[in-house]
Amino acid sequence: MSNRTTAVTESLHEYLLQVSLREPDVLARLRAETARLPEARMQIAPEQGQFMALLLQIMGARRVIEVGTFTGYSALAMALALPPDGRLIACDISHEWVDMGRRFWREAGVDDRIETRIGPALDSLQALRGEAEAGHWDFLFVDADKTAYIDYYEAGLELLRPGGVVAVDNTLWHGAVADPRDQDEDTEAIRVFNRHVHADERVDLSLVPIGDGLSLARKR
Ligand code: CA
Repeated sequence: MSNRTTAVTESLHEYLLQVSLREPDVLARLRAETARLPEARMQIAPEQGQFMALLLQIMGARRVIEVGTFTGYSALAMALALPPDGRLIACDISHEWVDMGRRFWREAGVDDRIETRIGPALDSLQALRGEAEAGHWDFLFVDADKTAYIDYYEAGLELLRPGGVVAVDNTLWHGAVADPRDQDEDTEAIRVFNRHVHADERVDLSLVPIGDGLSLARKR
């Protein structure tokens, strides 16, 4: 029992939230508004947002990049954990979704910490390299198209400082990664990514079973 991860049942998950979730009201309202969208499942779990915020605080992070902002929940959770002069670059392809988040960022008083870049995220990451920003970033959160995960990871690693962390979402993919019958393109892309990071000697690694699986890779 104690030497393996406890399976999180519905009731245990409810308990976990009861005794640990401290979701600020502005985040709860952004989550409620996002829940009305057909794509609502793309939002991270609130306990995961809280976990990433804590991670940033532990690291003393000041500079964060996000690939896949959607309606801005994770960006807001992370921006709230940054110091006032912290900076978060939020990359997404959709103006509409990001604009929804921006209203809540403003309300939370952290919109001046968040800079959005709309367009293909690989272009945005490459542009950051061009701006001589390589090697200066503390944290990169990847939660976008699964078939490009390795590309985001590789581009992100170049931008991170040694000791910086790439956090990659959905690496357990609802359990589908462990089902050999599932040959879906996204499932296979996540499997390939997971093997890639596992074999990558440039990083220290943990796959944390929170939300839909969050892989943390620390650049050596
Ligand atoms: Ca996700």
